[in-house]
Amino acid sequence: MTSTDKPTHRVGVLALQGAFARHVESLTRCGADAFEVRTPEQLAACDALVIPGGESTTMAMLLDRLELRTPLAERLNDGLPVFGTCAGMILLAKEIADGRPDQVPFDVIDIDVRRNGYGRQINSFEADIAVEGLDGSSFRAVFIRAPVVTRVGAEVDVLAEVDGDPVMCRSGHVSVVSFHPELTDDDRLHRLFLDRL
Ligand code: GLN
Repeated sequence: MTSTDKPTHRVGVLALQGAFARHVESLTRCGADAFEVRTPEQLAACDALVIPGGESTTMAMLLDRLELRTPLAERLNDGLPVFGTCAGMILLAKEIADGRPDQVPFDVIDIDVRRNGYGRQINSFEADIAVEGLDGSSFRAVFIRAPVVTRVGAEVDVLAEVDGDPVMCRSGHVSVVSFHPELTDDDRLHRLFLDRL
């Protein structure tokens, strides 16, 4: 829990589509004031944001339809701390391979990704990964039609890898993972994100 001398952070979870509910639960367990974000007003109330996994093409379409893309781009460019998981990682990247032609990423972390890059044969898998900055044991990472990180810029820290490929990266206020940290009861990655706010 957040200790009493620390402010409670208001953390939005983009809730247009995908795996947002478990993120809200995990953030709440960690002591944050967590809530779903579907409107510009809710976005404006955030001290930090989680962009969940799901389907990045659908989320991109809904961002446009709900007129959230421009205010979100502005907040991200102004330094809103953001944690993007799986499809969220795709939306925050610089370039997307195998995306839709009209799928424009926010370009707030200098990585390139390939959608569904782990291949059709192994669309989903789990791995125990070592994460820099996490005490104790490894983290059980659940990958579901996950993106592969194909390029990492010089300013980006790689915090975890699987078979030599980055699966967790951080650059300034932007953290991304290619897996689903909300699908286990292990809240350590959410806590790591909150501890840096
Ligand atoms: N393959 C999905 C996409 O392109 C991401 C999958 C996920 O978020 N679990 O958006």
